[in-house]
Amino acid sequence: NTFAEIDLGDSLNQNIRRCKYVKPTPVQRYSIPISLAGRDLMACAQTGSGKTAAFCFPIISGIMREQYVQRPRAARTAYPLALILSPTRELSCQIHDEVKKFSYQTGVKVVVTYGGAPINQQWRELERGVDILVATPGRLVDLLERARVSLQMIRYLALDEADRMLDMGFEPQIRKIVEQMDMPPPGVRQTMLFSATFPKEIQRLASDFLSNYIFLAV
Ligand code: AMP
Repeated sequence: NTFAEIDLGDSLNQNIRRCKYVKPTPVQRYSIPISLAGRDLMACAQTGSGKTAAFCFPIISGIMREQYVQRPRAARTAYPLALILSPTRELSCQIHDEVKKFSYQTGVKVVVTYGGAPINQQWRELERGVDILVATPGRLVDLLERARVSLQMIRYLALDEADRMLDMGFEPQIRKIVEQMDMPPPGVRQTMLFSATFPKEIQRLASDFLSNYIFLAV
């Protein structure tokens, strides 16, 4: 019942110790082993439950192993391996900070993109390379339309505060984004959906985006 007992890879385990996380919160205790086993997950989690680390740790752990895979060489297009979608700039920046903190000295590169800020600055960041992309749906659609980002290599997808994204009217953008990942040749994608509530619309997203998933409510 401590992080030391969960094998997330030496560098990540070390960063977790450095940040003084000792005991997983309930959502982490149950979701991390499910994600490490490669299963899709739909989890009920409120703000303050530790949900951010619950989806970030398995993603960082997986990307630490996969960051060296060959990616297409395209001067202006970035090919991230993991995508974390969140409803707002504030939340995206918080997630970005968390991923940065825990990917310290792992070689894993993380970039955040959101609307309401100059897009060319974000291009330049993406051009320097990205393994984990944290994004709001609107800005990501914009980057996809400009071919600055390709989702062909995505191995891990996390949707945070999915109910809030739907409340904000992002469903068409989210569907467009996931469609790009499902284009042939479809890769092997592991998906995690986090939401505070489970109305019908969220259940429909889960059945459309997740395969053979585990439902977790803590
Ligand atoms: P979240 O629900 O992801 O917004 O996290 C809430 C707060 O709890 C954040 O400040 C985290 O840094 C902190 N936190 C998350 N997991 C743990 C843990 N296992 N041990 C200590 N603090 C944690």
